[in-house]
Amino acid sequence: MALIKSWVASANSADTPFPLNNLPYGVFSTPGTEPRCGVAIGEMILDVAACEMDGLITLDADGAFDLPFWNDVMDLGPEVWQKLRARLIELLSENAPERDAVAPHLVPQAEAEMHMPMLVAEYTDFYAGRHHATNVGTMFRGAENALPPNWLHIPIGYNGRASSVVVSGTDIIRPNGQTKAPDAEMPSFGPCKRLDIELEMGAIVGTSTVLGQPISVAKADEMIFGYVLLNDWSARDIQAWEYQPLGPFQAKAFATSISPWIVTKPALEPFRTSTPAREKDLLPYLREPGPMLYDIELGVTMAPAGKDATTIARTNYSQMYYSAAQQLAHHASSGCAMTAGDLLGSGTISGPEKSERGSLLELSWGGKEPITLDTGETRSFIEDGDTLTLTGAAKGDGYQIGFGSCTGTILPAIHFP
Ligand code: MN
Repeated sequence: MALIKSWVASANSADTPFPLNNLPYGVFSTPGTEPRCGVAIGEMILDVAACEMDGLITLDADGAFDLPFWNDVMDLGPEVWQKLRARLIELLSENAPERDAVAPHLVPQAEAEMHMPMLVAEYTDFYAGRHHATNVGTMFRGAENALPPNWLHIPIGYNGRASSVVVSGTDIIRPNGQTKAPDAEMPSFGPCKRLDIELEMGAIVGTSTVLGQPISVAKADEMIFGYVLLNDWSARDIQAWEYQPLGPFQAKAFATSISPWIVTKPALEPFRTSTPAREKDLLPYLREPGPMLYDIELGVTMAPAGKDATTIARTNYSQMYYSAAQQLAHHASSGCAMTAGDLLGSGTISGPEKSERGSLLELSWGGKEPITLDTGETRSFIEDGDTLTLTGAAKGDGYQIGFGSCTGTILPAIHFP
């Protein structure tokens, strides 16, 4: 696969995250206009709501783009998704006859504000990265019992909160919560002292399942609309006290950030790759009929207030032990109904090397080995004013499928009570 050329000049650079091969879906507004659906192309956004109004794009559902979310388009199903993509490629490719009609509907990204790309129906977060689970397990239970006994058989997850999923660029208020120091008699309440990130990918479910009906892994893969970068902000000290025996609650409920552009499956198709070798055979309902992970290079940077960013980790989505399709099939296996707009967090993505760890908990080994930033400052966890940014791109031959960035700055906790 090579770069597909567009008449939008900025889309033909090897460095743009948004060549014609990508065409990710977002929701944008410009000063004085309402948020609506747009497609990134080079340094521009194609206003697809305006294109539909002009008759350049015709879908089965009128007005599906003139809304501040992509859920209505998701609901139309995979055949319409394919038609839409084919039409966008037609309109934006090098020798498009409609060029003069389309050009007025391009908006510079620099002038646009990005919003949440979809209404998040529900949010589930998994724990499917083997290196992450092994690192965390080693810290808390010792190397012998690092992986819980179910881990190689089930993509473990918990039901998170859709209400606190926010788009990249949204400031994050440091959470308050209940914690207990090991030697303290009583717990206390106050600002989180061990605030962390989790580098994850988010899979967006594009069609619904019927309550009571399980689905195969192949069907689950068909149902996925696209992927975003996801930061599962985590309060480690709150988590350590609250999680037994039901798992994370307030430690994860205060915020989850996602990147603004939904990168669709067809754009990622050339980068499909297999999950790692199975250490134990999976039960038949979880077996994959083909490669369902993607080779996506990921990075994390940290910038103290007003200072330059330092790259603190680099890893790859192909490190996951379970794919999003396996997670979705497992999620529906009990009969749990899945909905268009459901967001599935992959679980923290860490590689085998120290520089590939996707959380500060791992990078600083529970705070015992603080990391040093390029500014000379050290960090075990996040301080007020720090900006954390996730980046991701699949690298092709002379082009890339970029995700843009997923960034957030930490504001001081609210004094309470
Ligand atoms: Mn997580």
